[in-house]
Amino acid sequence: MTSQKHEIVFATQNKNKAYEIQGLLPNHIVVKTLSDIGCEDDIPEDQPDLAGNALQKARYIYDKYNVDCFADDTGLEISALNGEPGVYSARYAGPEKDSEKNMDLVLKKLENFSDRKAQFRTLIALIFEGREYLFEGKVVGDIRMEKSGQEGFGYDPIFEPENYGKTFAEMTKEEKNERSHRGRAIEKLAIFLKER
Ligand code: IMP
Repeated sequence: MTSQKHEIVFATQNKNKAYEIQGLLPNHIVVKTLSDIGCEDDIPEDQPDLAGNALQKARYIYDKYNVDCFADDTGLEISALNGEPGVYSARYAGPEKDSEKNMDLVLKKLENFSDRKAQFRTLIALIFEGREYLFEGKVVGDIRMEKSGQEGFGYDPIFEPENYGKTFAEMTKEEKNERSHRGRAIEKLAIFLKER
């Protein structure tokens, strides 16, 4: 462990996401966003799986700026739909990335299924001192028959984590973060960085 500050670029334009992650990482790590380094590129994200996408984004930043960096990618994977929407989670019902439409499509596709098992999975790809690392966080649960709850975003109103009795959208932000796929992946990243 060191007391020297260490800058790492998070391949996101979303300042809130970066701010949240900053709070979960060790104090000597300083998270920079793409705008902090003057990057406005539309970073390609066209790989067939979550790890591929996360790596693609991190490699793009590393190759262009030669800095330590990380990127994430998340998907909802539904057993009865062979892992869909997965890597297509954001744009499942179309390019407008409309969460209501995405959830409606999932509920429609699952109409005749009793198996409603699903998981959220987050992959974080880190490039640190020239080496690549992957961290995975997941949470298993079920897809509800209908939407419930007002909090969160994306598919939160239809996803109920196992043994919890509430959808993600019925939890406070803190409750969700404690047991979420993203929270678990970030925890692994934090443990790794703590030792550096
Ligand atoms: P991203 O990789 O974080 O941009 O996530 C891709 C898509 O997955 C989002 O646009 C959402 O539709 C969905 N998603 C990611 N994380 C969550 C979550 O925590 N709750 C609900 N939906 C999520």
